[in-house]
Amino acid sequence: MKYEAIIGLEVHAQMLTDTKIFCGCSTKFGSEPNTQTCPVCTGMPGVLPVLNKKALEFTIKTGLAMNCKISPYSRFARKNYFYPDLPKGYQISQYELPICEHGYIEIVVDGTIKKIGITRIHMEEDAGKNIHDSGSVGGNFSFVDLNRTGVPLMEIVSEPDIRTSVEAVEYMKKLRAILRYLGVCDGNMEQGSLRCDANVSVRPVGHDGFGVKTEIKNINSFRFVEKALEYEIKRQIKILEGEGKIIQETRLWDSSTGTTQSMRTKEEAHDYRYFPDPDLVPLMVDQKWIDEIRSSLPELPDIKRGRFISEYKFSEYDAELFTSEKSIAEPVEEAVKLGAKTKHLSNFMPVVFNYLNEKGKEIDETLLKPIHLVDLSNLVETAVVSGSMAKTILYETLDTGNMPSEIVKEKGLVQISDTGEIEKIVDDVIIKHPKEVERFKAGEQKLLGFFVGQVMKATKGKANPQMVNELLKKKLT
Ligand SMILES: [Zn+2]
Repeated sequence: MKYEAIIGLEVHAQMLTDTKIFCGCSTKFGSEPNTQTCPVCTGMPGVLPVLNKKALEFTIKTGLAMNCKISPYSRFARKNYFYPDLPKGYQISQYELPICEHGYIEIVVDGTIKKIGITRIHMEEDAGKNIHDSGSVGGNFSFVDLNRTGVPLMEIVSEPDIRTSVEAVEYMKKLRAILRYLGVCDGNMEQGSLRCDANVSVRPVGHDGFGVKTEIKNINSFRFVEKALEYEIKRQIKILEGEGKIIQETRLWDSSTGTTQSMRTKEEAHDYRYFPDPDLVPLMVDQKWIDEIRSSLPELPDIKRGRFISEYKFSEYDAELFTSEKSIAEPVEEAVKLGAKTKHLSNFMPVVFNYLNEKGKEIDETLLKPIHLVDLSNLVETAVVSGSMAKTILYETLDTGNMPSEIVKEKGLVQISDTGEIEKIVDDVIIKHPKEVERFKAGEQKLLGFFVGQVMKATKGKANPQMVNELLKKKLT
């Protein structure tokens, strides 16, 4: 029997507001423990929460960008549970009346566009953090840091429309791209500003009903989303094939073993005894404000991607890659507008990505400017430098911020395109390698690469590769 997976993702996105959701405490990351707290976020008796308007605006913005309906009337609810990092004994969240519902986002898998439904987006407050001492005061203590308590979160819940781990990763990437384009969340999964829980079940292909699902928590990178889901899908299929039963439970992804481990049986909504928060008035949002927020939305990745294909003739692959981050899309577009050739940018940008990976930097932390790309494109177009030289030059520009044409001048990197000069070197290489010439003439065509390499070596990579190829072919046959 063949099985298919049914996957729904719940994503918590930490909002980039300066202050917490129900008090004026700072949300700054990395401060001394418990220095960003007040009576409201530490849950003192007699205090009243007041909603941060920015958090509401960010959530509406996100809802609109994800094609949701914005509810004119929504409400906060208390989600009751006990944990040391939750001083009030409940978390303020939204339950039966969330602010955003019925949306979708589009993902591209194997060249096909697929819509993934968004069930709801609601606001809630984050809990604090427990720190378990590993020995500094004897190893017997745990500490509670409430700086994070009350930091605003959006919970984005998808429909169970996802079928494979690859689709799940594409969904997460698109979600992150939209949040970053909007500037409502920095999308940093390692630091926990974007957290993903996955609901997974499997069923025989062709069946309509849903199987028993498990929830996987603690997935903090795109790679782990893929691995955790693959592991869990296989685990469930194996149980069903052995005529066993899947237990509805919460499982933890353990990246060190590459497995999911049972954590506890899954809570039901009624375990949390949700009820409307009596300290907060129901939320009424007027249409005028929603329209204002809508008109302030930036161009989103899907639209930009389409435009990169139709307007600038980028390949689908490049368009998807270059528009995945606003910080990449903007300099690329600016460079095209200033005259850089699309085909050259397609060659240059992988060098930029390599550089960023290697240095662990974002593009706006480098000295690269759109005009550098234009200059470099001109150098390649006029055959002053070869494509491979351009890559070396670009690397230096990223490091120093120097103009490519300046680097060329300074280092004497100008490409040799003088036929006479190249011919001399080609002849020299042919004379020096009689054995290889014989083998080439006997049919070993792949030796051409060897000769090209020798000429490039002799010219320190400066010979025009196309001319070298042509001359070698002429002289060797
Ligand atoms: Zn506070």
